[in-house]
Amino acid sequence: VKNLNKVFRSKGGLFKPAREVRALNDVSFSLVKGETIGIVGESGSGKSTLGRCIVRLETPDSGLMSLSGTDFMTLHGESLRRERKRVQMIFQDPYASLNPRTRVGMAIAQGPIANGIPKQKALAQADDLLELVGLANTADRFPHEFSGGQRQRIGIARALALEPELIVADEAVSALDVSIQAQILELLEDLKQKFSLSLLFITHDLRVAAQICDHIIVMQHGRIVEQGPARDIFLAPQQAYTRQLLDAIP
Ligand code: ATP
Ligand code: MG
Repeated sequence: VKNLNKVFRSKGGLFKPAREVRALNDVSFSLVKGETIGIVGESGSGKSTLGRCIVRLETPDSGLMSLSGTDFMTLHGESLRRERKRVQMIFQDPYASLNPRTRVGMAIAQGPIANGIPKQKALAQADDLLELVGLANTADRFPHEFSGGQRQRIGIARALALEPELIVADEAVSALDVSIQAQILELLEDLKQKFSLSLLFITHDLRVAAQICDHIIVMQHGRIVEQGPARDIFLAPQQAYTRQLLDAIP
């Protein structure tokens, strides 16, 4: 990712002035295959915008982005559709993106089916993925029949179904209690090894970042203020802002 910029502009109205937010300001970093990078920073610092630009849920204003040699910024139409599945995103609340009337097996199979995998094969793969995330024999259940932690497992299975090289996790464990958090982090760690995935792990929780990340990027007001190996960031932060974030850990 090189010199990524994104500005949100809102037109003013009768009672509110026009507003301009520079959500990403010249953001550059690289991720080594197989590595977990943590994106940390206070609320509004641009973490989600960065993740959303990378999976192309949002279009950056300028900058470069490539994944093992494929330039993602110039992709459009069919080539974008084909390539974008290499990067998948998991969210804080996977429930929000699950259709309540779609059985979870089908919810996991949908992506592959849309990409041309025959339905029966995709459903069989969904069964295997559910087993892999610890939810064997649940394909015919509906989303509301699962707990928050289980739904996050479904979200992970859904992302894995498209065989991504990179997963962007945006506050993926933030809504879960600490013991369930630990289980999900462990699952992600296992799957990373198994599929040689890279992980971009967005979190406002530095304790969680410390558990899972190899490398940390600290963001403030859309800029990267500090980045480096997790050990250095936690043990010898160079920036006052980073120290402030670390001091805020209870
Ligand atoms: P949090 O920790 O609260 O999730 P964040 O670091 O993920 O925060 P972003 O969601 O990336 O922050 O937001 C960065 C800035 O961009 C904020 O000032 C936000 O208000 C603004 N912003 C984000 N999305 C939009 C949008 N669609 N329209 C207008 N402004 C936006
Ligand atoms: Mg966010």
